[in-house]
Amino acid sequence: MIKVAFFDAKEYDTNSFTPKITSEFKVKFYETKLSADTVQLAKGCDVVCIFVNDICDKDVIDGLVANGVKLIALRCAGYNNVDIEYAFGKIHIVRVPAYSPYAVAEHAMALLLTSIRRIHKAFIRTRDFNFSLSGLTGFDLHGKTVGVVGTGKIGRIFMDICKGFGMNVLGYDKFPIKDSDINYVSLDEIWEKSDIISLHCPLTDETTHMVNAESIAKMKKGVVLVNTSRGALVDSEALLEGIKARQIGAACLDVYEEEANVFFHDFSGHIVEDDVLARLISMPNVIVTSHQAFLTSDALENIATTTLANIKEFMEQGRSANEVCYKCDKVGSCPQKHEGKCF
Ligand code: NAD
Repeated sequence: MIKVAFFDAKEYDTNSFTPKITSEFKVKFYETKLSADTVQLAKGCDVVCIFVNDICDKDVIDGLVANGVKLIALRCAGYNNVDIEYAFGKIHIVRVPAYSPYAVAEHAMALLLTSIRRIHKAFIRTRDFNFSLSGLTGFDLHGKTVGVVGTGKIGRIFMDICKGFGMNVLGYDKFPIKDSDINYVSLDEIWEKSDIISLHCPLTDETTHMVNAESIAKMKKGVVLVNTSRGALVDSEALLEGIKARQIGAACLDVYEEEANVFFHDFSGHIVEDDVLARLISMPNVIVTSHQAFLTSDALENIATTTLANIKEFMEQGRSANEVCYKCDKVGSCPQKHEGKCF
Protein backbone atom coordinates (compact mmCIF):
# COMPACT_ATOMS: atom_id res chain seq x y z
CA MET A 1 0.00 0.00 0.00
CA ILE A 2 1.32 3.46 -0.94
CA LYS A 3 1.14 5.85 2.01
CA VAL A 4 0.59 9.49 1.08
CA ALA A 5 0.62 12.58 3.32
CA PHE A 6 -1.54 15.16 1.56
CA PHE A 7 -0.74 18.74 2.68
CA ASP A 8 -2.74 21.97 2.36
CA ALA A 9 -5.88 19.93 1.68
CA LYS A 10 -8.95 21.98 0.83
CA GLU A 11 -12.51 20.76 0.60
CA TYR A 12 -12.30 20.77 -3.21
CA ASP A 13 -9.18 18.54 -2.98
CA THR A 14 -10.82 15.92 -0.78
CA ASN A 15 -13.93 16.03 -3.00
CA SER A 16 -11.94 15.43 -6.20
CA PHE A 17 -9.36 12.95 -4.83
CA THR A 18 -11.43 10.79 -2.48
CA PRO A 19 -13.54 9.02 -5.16
CA LYS A 20 -10.33 8.12 -7.04
CA ILE A 21 -8.36 6.73 -4.09
CA THR A 22 -8.25 2.97 -4.59
CA SER A 23 -7.21 0.30 -2.07
CA GLU A 24 -3.58 0.64 -3.30
CA PHE A 25 -3.36 4.00 -1.49
CA LYS A 26 -3.61 5.13 2.09
CA VAL A 27 -3.97 8.93 2.07
CA LYS A 28 -3.91 11.18 5.12
CA PHE A 29 -5.30 14.64 4.40
CA TYR A 30 -3.75 17.50 6.38
CA GLU A 31 -5.16 21.02 6.21
CA THR A 32 -1.80 22.45 7.27
CA LYS A 33 0.85 23.37 4.72
CA LEU A 34 4.11 21.44 4.45
CA SER A 35 6.91 23.34 6.19
CA ALA A 36 9.81 22.66 8.56
CA ASP A 37 7.27 22.73 11.40
CA THR A 38 4.94 20.15 9.86
CA VAL A 39 7.33 17.83 8.02
CA GLN A 40 7.11 15.30 10.89
CA LEU A 41 3.53 14.57 9.80
CA ALA A 42 5.02 12.80 6.77
CA LYS A 43 6.90 10.27 8.94
CA GLY A 44 6.25 6.75 7.71
CA CYS A 45 4.75 7.93 4.40
CA ASP A 46 6.19 7.10 0.97
CA VAL A 47 4.91 10.25 -0.69
CA VAL A 48 3.99 13.82 0.15
CA CYS A 49 1.39 15.44 -2.06
CA ILE A 50 1.74 19.25 -2.08
CA PHE A 51 0.38 22.38 -3.76
CA VAL A 52 1.62 25.83 -4.77
CA ASN A 53 2.16 27.37 -1.34
CA ASP A 54 3.62 24.41 0.54
CA ILE A 55 7.24 25.06 1.49
CA CYS A 56 9.79 22.59 0.19
CA ASP A 57 13.14 24.19 0.93
CA LYS A 58 16.42 22.54 2.01
CA ASP A 59 15.29 21.95 5.62
CA VAL A 60 12.01 20.41 4.53
CA ILE A 61 13.74 18.20 1.95
CA ASP A 62 16.19 16.97 4.62
CA GLY A 63 13.22 16.32 6.91
CA LEU A 64 11.35 14.37 4.22
CA VAL A 65 14.39 12.22 3.45
CA ALA A 66 15.03 11.59 7.17
CA ASN A 67 11.40 10.51 7.53
CA GLY A 68 11.70 7.99 4.70
CA VAL A 69 9.68 9.89 2.09
CA LYS A 70 10.69 8.92 -1.44
CA LEU A 71 8.56 11.16 -3.63
CA ILE A 72 7.26 14.73 -3.69
CA ALA A 73 4.09 14.72 -5.79
CA LEU A 74 3.09 18.23 -6.79
CA ARG A 75 -0.59 18.47 -7.68
CA CYS A 76 0.14 21.54 -9.81
CA ALA A 77 2.28 22.52 -12.79
CA GLY A 78 4.64 25.10 -11.27
CA TYR A 79 7.44 23.87 -8.97
CA ASN A 80 9.09 27.14 -7.89
CA ASN A 81 8.26 26.32 -4.24
CA VAL A 82 10.53 23.25 -4.31
CA ASP A 83 14.32 23.59 -4.13
CA ILE A 84 14.76 21.22 -7.06
CA GLU A 85 18.53 21.62 -7.21
CA TYR A 86 18.94 20.63 -3.55
CA ALA A 87 16.47 17.76 -3.99
CA PHE A 88 18.48 16.25 -6.86
CA GLY A 89 19.96 12.92 -5.79
CA LYS A 90 17.93 12.93 -2.55
CA ILE A 91 14.25 12.72 -3.38
CA HIS A 92 12.28 12.51 -6.62
CA ILE A 93 9.68 15.06 -7.70
CA VAL A 94 6.68 14.64 -10.00
CA ARG A 95 4.13 17.22 -11.09
CA VAL A 96 1.01 17.65 -13.22
CA PRO A 97 2.42 19.50 -16.23
CA ALA A 98 -0.98 20.20 -17.79
CA TYR A 99 -4.40 19.71 -16.26
CA SER A 100 -6.37 22.39 -18.02
CA PRO A 101 -4.44 25.20 -19.62
CA TYR A 102 -7.87 26.37 -20.80
CA ALA A 103 -8.98 26.98 -17.21
CA VAL A 104 -6.12 29.44 -16.61
CA ALA A 105 -6.20 31.14 -20.02
CA GLU A 106 -9.98 31.59 -19.80
CA HIS A 107 -9.65 33.04 -16.28
CA ALA A 108 -7.05 35.52 -17.56
CA MET A 109 -9.54 36.68 -20.21
CA ALA A 110 -12.37 36.74 -17.65
CA LEU A 111 -10.29 39.05 -15.43
CA LEU A 112 -9.35 41.25 -18.37
CA LEU A 113 -12.95 41.66 -19.59
CA THR A 114 -14.24 42.23 -16.06
CA SER A 115 -11.66 44.93 -15.54
CA ILE A 116 -11.91 46.86 -18.78
CA ARG A 117 -15.75 46.68 -19.00
CA ARG A 118 -16.07 47.55 -15.29
CA ILE A 119 -18.25 44.47 -14.65
CA HIS A 120 -17.07 44.27 -11.02
CA LYS A 121 -18.39 47.79 -10.44
CA ALA A 122 -21.62 47.31 -12.41
CA PHE A 123 -22.44 44.09 -10.55
CA ILE A 124 -22.29 45.82 -7.17
CA ARG A 125 -24.23 48.85 -8.44
CA THR A 126 -27.19 47.00 -9.93
CA ARG A 127 -27.54 44.84 -6.80
CA ASP A 128 -28.17 48.14 -5.02
CA PHE A 129 -30.61 49.23 -7.77
CA ASN A 130 -28.12 51.88 -8.87
CA PHE A 131 -28.45 51.89 -12.66
CA SER A 132 -26.15 54.84 -13.32
CA LEU A 133 -23.49 54.35 -16.02
CA SER A 134 -21.25 57.05 -14.65
CA GLY A 135 -17.61 55.93 -14.53
CA LEU A 136 -18.27 52.61 -16.29
CA THR A 137 -16.79 53.52 -19.70
CA GLY A 138 -14.56 50.74 -20.99
CA PHE A 139 -12.64 50.21 -24.23
CA ASP A 140 -12.79 47.72 -27.12
CA LEU A 141 -10.29 44.87 -27.15
CA HIS A 142 -10.62 44.67 -30.94
CA GLY A 143 -7.59 46.26 -32.56
CA LYS A 144 -5.62 46.58 -29.30
CA THR A 145 -2.16 45.06 -28.87
CA VAL A 146 -1.67 42.33 -26.28
CA GLY A 147 1.82 41.21 -25.24
CA VAL A 148 2.04 37.64 -23.95
CA VAL A 149 5.12 36.74 -21.89
CA GLY A 150 5.63 32.96 -22.02
CA THR A 151 4.21 31.19 -25.06
CA GLY A 152 3.78 27.76 -23.46
CA LYS A 153 0.53 25.84 -23.09
CA ILE A 154 -1.44 28.56 -21.27
CA GLY A 155 0.12 31.51 -23.09
CA ARG A 156 -0.72 30.06 -26.51
CA ILE A 157 -4.36 29.40 -25.58
CA PHE A 158 -4.62 32.94 -24.25
CA MET A 159 -3.15 34.19 -27.54
CA ASP A 160 -5.78 32.25 -29.51
CA ILE A 161 -8.56 33.70 -27.34
CA CYS A 162 -7.16 37.20 -27.97
CA LYS A 163 -7.02 36.55 -31.72
CA GLY A 164 -10.72 35.68 -31.52
CA PHE A 165 -11.28 39.19 -30.18
CA GLY A 166 -9.44 40.66 -33.19
CA MET A 167 -6.45 41.76 -31.16
CA ASN A 168 -2.91 42.26 -32.42
CA VAL A 169 -0.97 39.55 -30.52
CA LEU A 170 2.75 39.81 -29.68
CA GLY A 171 4.71 37.08 -27.89
CA TYR A 172 7.94 36.84 -25.95
CA ASP A 173 9.54 33.59 -24.77
CA LYS A 174 13.05 32.75 -23.65
CA PHE A 175 12.71 29.60 -25.73
CA PRO A 176 10.59 30.66 -28.74
CA ILE A 177 8.83 27.94 -30.69
CA LYS A 178 10.60 27.44 -34.01
CA ASP A 179 8.58 27.80 -37.22
CA SER A 180 5.44 28.91 -35.37
CA ASP A 181 3.11 31.68 -36.53
CA ILE A 182 3.70 33.58 -33.26
CA ASN A 183 4.76 37.16 -33.75
CA TYR A 184 7.81 37.06 -31.44
CA VAL A 185 9.33 40.34 -30.27
CA SER A 186 11.87 41.27 -27.59
CA LEU A 187 10.79 41.68 -23.97
CA ASP A 188 11.37 45.43 -24.26
CA GLU A 189 9.02 45.55 -27.26
CA ILE A 190 6.37 43.73 -25.18
CA TRP A 191 6.68 46.43 -22.50
CA GLU A 192 6.74 49.29 -25.02
CA LYS A 193 4.07 48.25 -27.57
CA SER A 194 1.38 46.48 -25.55
CA ASP A 195 -1.94 47.92 -24.42
CA ILE A 196 -2.41 44.76 -22.36
CA ILE A 197 0.34 42.53 -20.96
CA SER A 198 -0.40 39.01 -19.75
CA LEU A 199 2.21 36.94 -17.91
CA HIS A 200 2.38 33.19 -18.57
CA CYS A 201 6.01 32.25 -17.86
CA PRO A 202 7.29 30.28 -14.84
CA LEU A 203 8.81 31.91 -11.77
CA THR A 204 12.58 31.51 -11.90
CA ASP A 205 15.53 33.57 -10.64
CA GLU A 206 15.50 35.29 -14.02
CA THR A 207 11.77 36.09 -14.09
CA THR A 208 11.43 37.19 -10.45
CA HIS A 209 10.24 40.83 -10.44
CA MET A 210 10.41 41.03 -14.25
CA VAL A 211 7.65 43.61 -13.85
CA ASN A 212 9.44 46.25 -11.78
CA ALA A 213 9.85 50.03 -11.67
CA GLU A 214 12.17 49.94 -14.70
CA SER A 215 9.94 47.79 -16.92
CA ILE A 216 6.81 49.65 -15.79
CA ALA A 217 8.45 52.92 -16.89
CA LYS A 218 8.86 51.46 -20.40
CA MET A 219 5.17 50.47 -20.65
CA LYS A 220 2.47 52.45 -22.43
CA LYS A 221 0.61 54.80 -20.11
CA GLY A 222 -2.63 53.12 -19.09
CA VAL A 223 -1.42 49.56 -19.78
CA VAL A 224 -3.50 46.73 -18.31
CA LEU A 225 -1.41 44.07 -16.55
CA VAL A 226 -2.78 40.54 -16.16
CA ASN A 227 -0.92 38.06 -13.95
CA THR A 228 -2.29 34.53 -13.62
CA SER A 229 1.17 32.94 -13.43
CA ARG A 230 3.11 33.51 -10.20
CA GLY A 231 2.94 36.51 -7.88
CA ALA A 232 6.66 37.19 -7.62
CA LEU A 233 6.90 37.88 -11.36
CA VAL A 234 5.64 41.31 -10.31
CA ASP A 235 7.27 43.64 -7.78
CA SER A 236 4.03 44.49 -5.97
CA GLU A 237 5.31 47.74 -4.46
CA ALA A 238 6.44 48.94 -7.90
CA LEU A 239 3.04 47.93 -9.29
CA LEU A 240 1.29 49.95 -6.59
CA GLU A 241 3.47 52.97 -7.38
CA GLY A 242 2.75 52.51 -11.11
CA ILE A 243 -0.99 52.50 -10.40
CA LYS A 244 -0.77 55.56 -8.16
CA ALA A 245 1.20 57.38 -10.87
CA ARG A 246 -1.54 56.41 -13.43
CA GLN A 247 1.13 54.67 -15.52
CA ILE A 248 -0.66 51.32 -15.01
CA GLY A 249 -4.30 51.64 -16.09
CA ALA A 250 -5.50 48.45 -14.43
CA ALA A 251 -4.16 45.28 -12.85
CA CYS A 252 -5.81 41.85 -12.87
CA LEU A 253 -4.08 39.61 -10.37
CA ASP A 254 -4.84 35.96 -9.68
CA VAL A 255 -1.52 35.61 -7.88
CA TYR A 256 0.38 37.79 -5.43
CA GLU A 257 3.97 37.49 -4.26
CA GLU A 258 3.03 37.30 -0.57
CA GLU A 259 -0.06 35.17 -1.16
CA ALA A 260 1.09 32.10 0.83
CA ASN A 261 -0.33 33.16 4.19
CA VAL A 262 -3.37 34.96 2.84
CA PHE A 263 -4.87 33.23 -0.17
CA PHE A 264 -7.23 30.28 0.32
CA HIS A 265 -8.25 31.56 3.79
CA ASP A 266 -11.20 33.65 4.99
CA PHE A 267 -9.88 36.86 6.54
CA SER A 268 -13.18 38.72 6.45
CA GLY A 269 -13.61 40.30 9.85
CA HIS A 270 -9.83 40.41 10.39
CA ILE A 271 -7.38 43.24 9.94
CA VAL A 272 -5.18 42.47 6.94
CA GLU A 273 -1.53 42.92 7.89
CA ASP A 274 -0.20 43.26 4.34
CA ASP A 275 -0.42 46.99 3.53
CA VAL A 276 0.54 46.57 -0.13
CA LEU A 277 -2.17 43.98 -0.74
CA ALA A 278 -4.73 46.03 1.19
CA ARG A 279 -3.88 49.15 -0.84
CA LEU A 280 -3.98 47.24 -4.14
CA ILE A 281 -7.39 45.77 -3.29
CA SER A 282 -8.67 49.25 -2.38
CA MET A 283 -7.93 50.50 -5.92
CA PRO A 284 -10.94 50.72 -8.26
CA ASN A 285 -8.83 49.47 -11.16
CA VAL A 286 -7.37 46.39 -9.46
CA ILE A 287 -9.08 43.01 -9.44
CA VAL A 288 -7.67 40.28 -7.23
CA THR A 289 -8.77 36.65 -7.29
CA SER A 290 -7.11 34.26 -4.88
CA HIS A 291 -5.15 31.89 -7.14
CA GLN A 292 -8.33 30.41 -8.56
CA ALA A 293 -7.49 30.39 -12.28
CA PHE A 294 -7.03 26.61 -12.19
CA LEU A 295 -10.27 26.01 -10.30
CA THR A 296 -12.64 24.31 -12.73
CA SER A 297 -14.24 20.91 -12.27
CA ASP A 298 -12.45 19.77 -15.44
CA ALA A 299 -9.06 20.80 -14.06
CA LEU A 300 -9.67 19.26 -10.61
CA GLU A 301 -10.64 15.96 -12.23
CA ASN A 302 -7.43 15.95 -14.30
CA ILE A 303 -5.27 16.99 -11.32
CA ALA A 304 -6.55 14.11 -9.18
CA THR A 305 -6.24 11.54 -11.98
CA THR A 306 -2.71 12.57 -13.03
CA THR A 307 -1.38 13.02 -9.48
CA LEU A 308 -2.49 9.52 -8.41
CA ALA A 309 -1.23 8.02 -11.71
CA ASN A 310 2.16 9.75 -11.23
CA ILE A 311 2.46 8.36 -7.69
CA LYS A 312 1.43 4.83 -8.71
CA GLU A 313 3.73 4.77 -11.73
CA PHE A 314 6.68 6.05 -9.73
CA MET A 315 6.18 3.77 -6.72
CA GLU A 316 5.52 0.66 -8.84
CA GLN A 317 7.79 1.20 -11.86
CA GLY A 318 10.39 3.56 -10.41
CA ARG A 319 9.86 6.16 -13.10
CA SER A 320 7.45 8.83 -14.25
CA ALA A 321 7.10 10.79 -17.46
CA ASN A 322 6.16 13.74 -15.24
CA GLU A 323 9.31 13.74 -13.08
CA VAL A 324 11.13 17.08 -12.80
CA CYS A 325 14.63 17.93 -11.67
CA TYR A 326 16.81 21.00 -11.99
CA LYS A 327 18.42 19.47 -15.07
CA CYS A 328 15.01 19.09 -16.73
CA ASP A 329 14.51 22.75 -15.88
CA LYS A 330 17.49 23.71 -18.01
CA VAL A 331 15.97 22.66 -21.28
CA GLY A 332 17.59 19.53 -22.73
CA SER A 333 20.23 18.99 -20.07
CA CYS A 334 18.53 16.14 -18.18
CA PRO A 335 19.85 12.92 -19.71
CA GLN A 336 16.85 10.79 -18.79
CA LYS A 337 14.50 12.42 -21.32
CA HIS A 338 11.61 11.02 -19.29
CA GLU A 339 12.34 7.41 -20.11
CA GLY A 340 13.84 6.60 -16.72
CA LYS A 341 14.48 8.31 -13.38
CA CYS A 342 16.17 11.72 -13.35
CA PHE A 343 18.89 10.26 -11.08
P1 NAD B 1 4.58 25.96 -19.92
O1 NAD B 1 5.78 25.31 -19.37
O2 NAD B 1 3.77 25.24 -20.96
O3 NAD B 1 4.96 27.39 -20.54
C1 NAD B 1 5.84 28.28 -19.92
C2 NAD B 1 6.56 29.06 -21.01
O4 NAD B 1 7.38 30.04 -20.39
C3 NAD B 1 7.47 28.17 -21.87
O5 NAD B 1 7.20 28.38 -23.24
C4 NAD B 1 8.86 28.63 -21.48
O6 NAD B 1 9.80 28.52 -22.56
C5 NAD B 1 8.61 30.07 -21.10
N1 NAD B 1 9.68 30.65 -20.32
C6 NAD B 1 10.57 30.03 -19.50
N2 NAD B 1 11.45 30.93 -19.00
C7 NAD B 1 11.08 32.14 -19.51
C8 NAD B 1 11.59 33.45 -19.37
N3 NAD B 1 12.68 33.71 -18.62
N4 NAD B 1 10.98 34.45 -20.04
C9 NAD B 1 9.90 34.20 -20.84
N5 NAD B 1 9.37 32.98 -21.01
C10 NAD B 1 9.95 31.96 -20.35
O7 NAD B 1 3.68 26.34 -18.67
P2 NAD B 1 2.12 26.65 -18.65
O8 NAD B 1 1.36 25.40 -18.38
O9 NAD B 1 1.77 27.49 -19.82
O10 NAD B 1 2.03 27.52 -17.31
C11 NAD B 1 2.59 28.81 -17.23
C12 NAD B 1 2.60 29.26 -15.78
O11 NAD B 1 1.26 29.43 -15.33
C13 NAD B 1 3.18 28.22 -14.80
O12 NAD B 1 4.58 28.38 -14.69
C14 NAD B 1 2.49 28.52 -13.51
O13 NAD B 1 3.31 29.37 -12.76
C15 NAD B 1 1.25 29.28 -13.92
N6 NAD B 1 0.00 28.61 -13.53
C16 NAD B 1 -0.90 29.30 -12.78
C17 NAD B 1 -2.09 28.70 -12.41
C18 NAD B 1 -3.13 29.43 -11.62
O14 NAD B 1 -4.07 28.82 -11.09
N7 NAD B 1 -3.05 30.75 -11.48
C19 NAD B 1 -2.36 27.38 -12.81
C20 NAD B 1 -1.41 26.72 -13.61
C21 NAD B 1 -0.23 27.34 -13.97
